[in-house]
Amino acid sequence: MILTVTLNPSLDSIYFTETFVLGEMNRCGNPVKAVGGKGINAGRTAAILGAKVTAIGVLAGINGDFIRSALNKEPFFATHFLSISGESRNAVTVMDQEKNQTEIVELGPEITADTAEKVLNLVIDLSKKQKKEPILALCGSANTENDHLYQHYLEQLGGISKVLTDISGKQLKNILNSPVKPYFIKPNIHEFAELLHTTIKNKNDVIAHLTQPLIKDIPFVLVSCGSEGAIAKYKDRIFDVSIPAIDAINPTGSGDATVGGIAFALDQGFSIEETLRYGMACGMSNALEQAVGFVSTDNVEQLKKRIILRDVRI
Ligand code: ATP
Repeated sequence: MILTVTLNPSLDSIYFTETFVLGEMNRCGNPVKAVGGKGINAGRTAAILGAKVTAIGVLAGINGDFIRSALNKEPFFATHFLSISGESRNAVTVMDQEKNQTEIVELGPEITADTAEKVLNLVIDLSKKQKKEPILALCGSANTENDHLYQHYLEQLGGISKVLTDISGKQLKNILNSPVKPYFIKPNIHEFAELLHTTIKNKNDVIAHLTQPLIKDIPFVLVSCGSEGAIAKYKDRIFDVSIPAIDAINPTGSGDATVGGIAFALDQGFSIEETLRYGMACGMSNALEQAVGFVSTDNVEQLKKRIILRDVRI
């Protein structure tokens, strides 16, 4: 069983434009409208691959109603979303023909202490009902003044689930400094640089920073590098993961799909090599779709065969 938590779901609009010029009228054809949020996208990906998934989170206002009814129509996974006050956010992406991606993302409704505890209790209840330790993916931002919210979740949930996180900024730093460690983290290369307050330009720079004390005790670290693939640390091994060039259509949500693929493979008990192949293939498969947080099982199976793992010695 895989549980995902999304404290800031979004109503995503993706506009494909020929050009995008600041200060001018930019026209677009049919936009893609999708229901998103990192945990929802990761959960959908894992569910498409065949995992049993429950997506948990909060929804607010008219956008929240729309997201709820869209999720109810999805055949892939079960959902438990609490209604809170405010308005679930809009996230707008503009993609021009040069594949430049511009995003405008609203803050989203406030997660009060009361809401945070209600969601936590829901996750605890669902986790305890499982016969086998569930995989729990804590994903995405939360509009909260409490920079230790995810650390609190980790401390409460780490003993009853295998915790994967796809978060950034202060929340990520705080969980890494927590006495209870997450099993897996997935910063992208920019988030990794931000986390370590350093400049990271390429995969070699990532490798050089993988021994930093802040991440030393995290069993599985995946630093995703977009079309370059990823660098992974698993226990005492480091992998340079190379992916083939593809004609990407919309890479938005590829990181979420990667987390979904990793969660699926961990839930199945696959080897680290197979787990990394699933993660990368899902990120790529998502990039081949216009939709966000969506993969094709055929593409995942084909792409998996083209991923090259190289053991790195440091
Ligand atoms: P997002 O925030 O949009 O979900 P991210 O920044 O967290 O993404 P990325 O590093 O961009 O994550 O992508 C995750 C994985 O998806 C990559 O490691 C790679 O496997 C795949 N991927 C992403 N972009 C591309 C691309 N343009 N071409 C091929 N594969 C891609």
